[in-house]
Amino acid sequence: MTIQQFIDGRLVPSASDDTLAVHNPATETVMDQVPRGAPEDVNRAVTAAHRALASWRALTTVERGRYLLAIADELERRGEEIVRLTSRNNGKPLAEARIDLGDAVATYRYYGEHAEALLDARQNADVAVAMPGYASRLRLEPVGVAALIVPWNFPLVTTAWKLAPALLAGCTAVLKPSEVTPLPEMVMAEVAETVDLPAGVLNIVNGTGEHVGAPLTIHPDVAKVSFTGSNPVGAQVMRAAAADARNISLELGGKSPIVVFEDADPDQAVEWIMAGIFFNAGQICSATSRLLVHESVAEAVLPRLKAAAEALALGDPLDEATEMGPLTTRAQYDKALTYFRQAVSENLVCLTGGTASNRAHGYFVAPTVYTHVPTDSRLWREEIFAPVLCTRTFASEDEAVALANDCAYGLAATVVSADTERAHRVADRLEAGHVWLNGPQVILPETSWGGHKASGIGRELGPWGLHAFLEVKHVSYPR
Ligand code: NAD
Repeated sequence: MTIQQFIDGRLVPSASDDTLAVHNPATETVMDQVPRGAPEDVNRAVTAAHRALASWRALTTVERGRYLLAIADELERRGEEIVRLTSRNNGKPLAEARIDLGDAVATYRYYGEHAEALLDARQNADVAVAMPGYASRLRLEPVGVAALIVPWNFPLVTTAWKLAPALLAGCTAVLKPSEVTPLPEMVMAEVAETVDLPAGVLNIVNGTGEHVGAPLTIHPDVAKVSFTGSNPVGAQVMRAAAADARNISLELGGKSPIVVFEDADPDQAVEWIMAGIFFNAGQICSATSRLLVHESVAEAVLPRLKAAAEALALGDPLDEATEMGPLTTRAQYDKALTYFRQAVSENLVCLTGGTASNRAHGYFVAPTVYTHVPTDSRLWREEIFAPVLCTRTFASEDEAVALANDCAYGLAATVVSADTERAHRVADRLEAGHVWLNGPQVILPETSWGGHKASGIGRELGPWGLHAFLEVKHVSYPR
């Protein structure tokens, strides 16, 4: 069976007969076929989205918000079925797929519940101007048709972070899922039908970057491109958008630090280090893949970390006991093995892992930790997107901050210290879009997501995520 396109409220075949296999990464078996896609599919979807725009933006924000609440309820109602589908297609353990579903539901709910405060309450607000006898009011208007291009590591979640604010803003959308994980994303077509979302408001075009993604970024009727993915493709999206100054948001890669100070509880620190690098088998843009540990606690932290990494239960993502699944693609698995060979050639000290796992099937690699990694090592500097942690020690707060910030990326960071004043002080000095203190990476829909430096342009979630889909207009006039 081949997955279809969802265009103008209906499932339709792609204009191209060419397909790609969709794999279960734990078993390497083929689950389905996804269309390669074609520019004709993009044209049809953008035309439908463009046609639906006038009536969708004419609804009140609260009416649009009600659809988001209905989407949240429907995703929640379908619960475990979606969780299992995500686990099978992406390879993440069930417990993590449940967290993902919770994130997606919370995002639709946040924008649905705050529709009025986020938009209506600010619409037509008077702007104080100094010029005597003059007034100005603020308008926040939808950008237009939005192209939403997402990766494979958090299907449904990265989609929710774009789709919920886009729809609330009054934009209509063409979603391009990753060709690797189309199955959970296509649930959104069924959800759109169940909640009676007007035809054309959400269109889903499956296919490759070449046949669907790139044509979307240059389509004249696409007003906004919101992209999450790798830096090289982000650069292509930016170049494509440059020709006619199209509005873009880019959520790109990371090489985030976790800084553990000498007053940290070693057991607690190890728990957060583990979650920061081994969640989703390290395939998280915000993975804290560089551990900076104070030299006086390294001897307490590193042996505990080695023991915990070696005790991590790898296996079938559908088994409730599994704590880490496979990498999601063969390409990602091959990339991890390339970095393991690179580590050997650089004579890195391997505390644990550094190999594929010994399972017969699936793209499994061992949870891996390198110590004393030089700052010019490729493993220290490059995003690996696998369960690979590089560690270094530091002697002072200034050194920790300097090492943490010595990086092309600036997506996220974690600080672990019993001294909360110091934790806050360090957080303020770190070049990162989100910093967690003494805890795991919780995602709060009210706070922003996005990076400094090479980690991207713009922010998702919260009011900032909504602004990404709004144009600002002022109407000025004599009083
Ligand atoms: P990718 O860049 O290969 O692909 C992302 C999406 O872009 C896919 O849907 C792909 O088909 C599409 N695409 C490919 N070529 C295109 C083109 N020329 N024009 C338009 N679209 C094109 O990324 P990936 O491998 O799917 O995901 C992993 C990357 O995503 C990592 O670098 C990770 O850090 C990043 N990521 C970032 C965030 C964040 O919030 N900052 C979140 C998740 C993932």
